[in-house]
Amino acid sequence: MIRVQAVAPDSLGAALELVPGTELLSINGRPLEDFLDWEFLTADEQFVLQVRLPSGQEVEYDVERPEGMPMGVMLEPPRIRRCANHCDFCFVDGNPQGLRQALYIRDDDYRLSFRYGNFATLTNLKPWDLARIVEYRLSPLYVSVHATDPVVRRWLLRNPEAPDVIPQLRWFAERGITFHTQVVLVPGVNDGPQLMRTLTDLYGLGDAVLSVSVVPVALTEFSKHALVRQPTREECRAALAIVDDFAARALADRGLPWCYGADDLYLQADVPLPPAEWYGDFEQRENGVGAVRYLQTRIQAAQIEPGSWRGKRIGIVTGTAMGPLLPQVVTDLEALTGAHFEILALENTLFGPSVTTAGLLPGKAVLTALKTRADLDLALLSAESVNDDLLFMDDMEAHDLAAQLPMPVKLSYDFADALVGEEVAA
Ligand code: SF4
Repeated sequence: MIRVQAVAPDSLGAALELVPGTELLSINGRPLEDFLDWEFLTADEQFVLQVRLPSGQEVEYDVERPEGMPMGVMLEPPRIRRCANHCDFCFVDGNPQGLRQALYIRDDDYRLSFRYGNFATLTNLKPWDLARIVEYRLSPLYVSVHATDPVVRRWLLRNPEAPDVIPQLRWFAERGITFHTQVVLVPGVNDGPQLMRTLTDLYGLGDAVLSVSVVPVALTEFSKHALVRQPTREECRAALAIVDDFAARALADRGLPWCYGADDLYLQADVPLPPAEWYGDFEQRENGVGAVRYLQTRIQAAQIEPGSWRGKRIGIVTGTAMGPLLPQVVTDLEALTGAHFEILALENTLFGPSVTTAGLLPGKAVLTALKTRADLDLALLSAESVNDDLLFMDDMEAHDLAAQLPMPVKLSYDFADALVGEEVAA
């Protein structure tokens, strides 16, 4: 059962007089479990919708959907599928105590994989889910493979029940489903020959595997360091050599690299990033693959008026990972805008210094870094540091933070958006 949260005016939902709190029971007699059922089954021009109004009255509508008319129904958030694994490197174990409850949820949800590109392991699928993925063509899915040797994968996931991933992916591939995949690299476990085997097996699935990324395991101060460690520079270099071999083979066979190292893998290996063209459509940039090059292409393509920020001092707040990479980006920005940019690469005071991404910076660290910087005309913060409610990881709210700072601040995904757009927090 799913429930209406809001209804847009001038929509079919409003015409049917659906109101918040209405339970959406079935379409054409088929029970509705979640947003996927709702979206796919209401795509038809005609259907019978059964609902229960907040008063308790059940109503059946014969719906004829005029072409182009939106349903306009926003649903209450879905109940997230919980993860069946217990990875030693799980980000949830790496959280300190006292964060908001949502940050302790281990989700592993193929629906969010399809919708938002979240990686899922597919270890918690029921027969009904398999049928649904195929029926609704939930493709591409983003799959955490880690290793294709079933013993190694079960060990990494700490799940003795995890299905053998290659037959599982093949079953889907035969039914037209495609995948972006990732390998979180855990030194001594799935690197070296295991990484070669994994890439070989994934490559053998042909066009169904659209890409594979190799991402070095990320740990915080609170992670299970007795059980898992981060790779050394040499281990990252060795992994990159394997990635490069497969990329060269894929380029020759298929015309695209297919196998990508995450930016962090290059950074930890102390090896220069490939050029922007390497990453094609940057399909795994949300996973930190090609993120820096993507940023540069966005800046180059931006409609920033040349010289529009001349003489201004602008602070860019980021995590320590981007600190060494940003100067190349900032050079382009300075040439374009005429402003002087200062990179503030902050250590993460919440998770510890090993967490280097800007997206996990706490508001308090930003406040400490900026509160005495009246010399700055503007500060740019990573939009990925806050959630939809504008909360940082430590629950500080972006407007509250901005109110305590001596300069205006803007949330930005790629700098270019902030330098042409409106202030979102001030
Ligand atoms: S798959 Fe592993 S890392 Fe992901 S939520 Fe589950 S336990 Fe955590």
